Amino acid sequence: MGHDGVVETFATYLREHGLPVTAQRLAIAHVLLGSERHLSADDVASELARAHSRIGLATVYRTIELLVKSGLLVERDFGEGFRRFEPARDIPHHEHLLCTVCGTVHEFRDERLERMTTLVAEANGFARQRHLLVIYGVCADCQRAAPIRRSPLTRP
Ligand SMILES: [Zn+2]
Ligand SMILES: [Zn+2]
Repeated sequence: MGHDGVVETFATYLREHGLPVTAQRLAIAHVLLGSERHLSADDVASELARAHSRIGLATVYRTIELLVKSGLLVERDFGEGFRRFEPARDIPHHEHLLCTVCGTVHEFRDERLERMTTLVAEANGFARQRHLLVIYGVCADCQRAAPIRRSPLTRP
């Protein structure tokens, strides 16, 4: 998947900070930095358990903190009561769509939306710094699997 280089960068970060480069830490980094998805700590632990090693959740959390500190991993809070993480790839700023049925997170970027946030900020006398947008809904796969439950808000 071409993310071995990033895992190596993490190993270098650990060495430079006098922290042990353990197989467990590298396995956790491998899962998180190689994922296209937005994983939670639980996701990482169960993925590792499925693959090979039994790594405690505390170790997963500690390694995640190190990955975030190193700048290789970005934290996301979608208001679900837990945090998710995605690799800090060279991709530009993007927004997220979150499926409330299967929990899948999709990414998108839209120039019109970017311009819109600037206009709204200006109209309110704001010097825009940044923005976050999450669209909650039901993904195409889940819509096919079951009929859409309309939220009370969208009901006429
Ligand atoms: Zn879904
Ligand atoms: Zn993302």
